[in-house]
Amino acid sequence: MKTKPMIFSALLISSLVLGACGGSDSATSSPDYELTDVTFPLEEKVTLKMLSQGAALAPDDPNDKLIFQRIEEDTNVHVDWTNYNADFVEKRNLDIASGELPDAIFNAGASDYDLLSWAESGVIVPVEDLIDQYMPNLKKIFDENPEYRQLSTAPDGHIYSFPWIEELGEGKESIHTVNDMAWINVEWLDNLGLAMPTTTDELMTVLEAFKTQDPNGNGEADEIPFSFINDGGNEDLKFLFAAFGEGDNDDHLIVDNDGNAQFTADKEGYKEAIKYFNEMYDKGLIDAEAFEQDWNTYVAKGKEHEYGVYFSWDKANISGDNDSYDVLPVLAGPDGTKHVTRTNGIGFSRDRFVITSANQNLELTAKWVDKMYEPLQSVQNNWGTYGDDTQANIFELNGEMLTHLPLDGEAPGELRQRTEAAGPLAILDSYYGTVTTMPDDAAWRLELMHETYLPYISNENNYPKVFLEKEETDRLAKIETDMWDYIYRKRAEWITNGTIDQEWDEYLAELERVGIDEWLEIKQAGYDRFVEGTEAN
Ligand code: CA
Repeated sequence: MKTKPMIFSALLISSLVLGACGGSDSATSSPDYELTDVTFPLEEKVTLKMLSQGAALAPDDPNDKLIFQRIEEDTNVHVDWTNYNADFVEKRNLDIASGELPDAIFNAGASDYDLLSWAESGVIVPVEDLIDQYMPNLKKIFDENPEYRQLSTAPDGHIYSFPWIEELGEGKESIHTVNDMAWINVEWLDNLGLAMPTTTDELMTVLEAFKTQDPNGNGEADEIPFSFINDGGNEDLKFLFAAFGEGDNDDHLIVDNDGNAQFTADKEGYKEAIKYFNEMYDKGLIDAEAFEQDWNTYVAKGKEHEYGVYFSWDKANISGDNDSYDVLPVLAGPDGTKHVTRTNGIGFSRDRFVITSANQNLELTAKWVDKMYEPLQSVQNNWGTYGDDTQANIFELNGEMLTHLPLDGEAPGELRQRTEAAGPLAILDSYYGTVTTMPDDAAWRLELMHETYLPYISNENNYPKVFLEKEETDRLAKIETDMWDYIYRKRAEWITNGTIDQEWDEYLAELERVGIDEWLEIKQAGYDRFVEGTEAN
């Protein structure tokens, strides 16, 4: 099928190896091994050729990781990796453009647009029949959780990629429901004898006291009452917008209880929230660096406990794992109501593994991928493995259950990169306590979110990761390129200069000009198709 003159292949191989970080002597596909009714381990070892994306701290050759060595031992399938650590997307696209396809791409890093383009041009093959025939683990997950099959299915009805699924709490109780949690300095509250604020007005009063009453007791007005990173995702301040109405999230998109997708950054409550923060700015309560600081600057001040209130996913990342800070309760706004705006975050991505049209061993490849969806394997692929005597371990294996070990000073993110496989996998809520323990930081955060936020989350749905048409994806990307920067630029200007009333109509007109109506139409149509599909399942 793809026999090439030897000399041509050799030239191509050398150019590919120059760009690769290691592992491979060829990026082309494997011969047809004519294997049927495959069971692991194979009687004779065979090789599959895969392109992959490695984490920065991971070994250049994935086969240097214990986790992949065990998979090879269990299956007798050797994987010949072309593994790129840096500039993955660019190198991946060059390899695809060369026409010499590997058997598969692991950690494919594919956008929806990529998946649909590759499908259209015949780079990848649909996999839904392979799932039904050869992949009992993934099929079971899809059968029991039809929303994941739905999320994996392209608008043309085919599935082109294998997903990553990481459940941590369901629906409103998902760990992703709030990303930019607000943390308040409770040591300063204690030192000044102040009560925890419960309204936006009380918060303003507390921040003024932080500024003027020397809560850290060093005789200097060096406190930073309120800080955030503008447009900084988990470190942005938009969580507090909910006190004034619908609130805001990183997509500026919510779903109301009538099933309408709503754009958030043009609402009256959005305007009121900005006025509140303008008042805060005028009183000198907002960090002078908030609108330009990067992560390192933000963390440096956080570590020194210079903030009264700040935002982040987990306070341990900023002010450390200690009792100086606590979660800020949900504040009642001017009309007395308390509300929490959900993010559209979900532990799901479609893009983790694709099979190319050059692959001549579809059953073998599908069964190899299906092994990644065995519960015990998925847990290790996601977080790291056990029993490595050359370095620290995330887990120990107790019978059929993986138990998290104490980190003993190891940075979990780094250890994870060195020992995980990533790629296609699924961790379901039902695995906690049966297949694995829950990571301590996740369990703590889930409990805290449950107590603090859950009573004030009134939106039953958020916006799912809808698989849109290629043209729709393209159109949204173009509109967002113009609109997103503009939204954050105006927000920053209005918080600092207070001219929102004068400029509001002009702002609405500009949003309309760049295509907000079309943006919302595409989002709504995608949502309606998703709901229809869910009901059909
Ligand atoms: Ca001070």
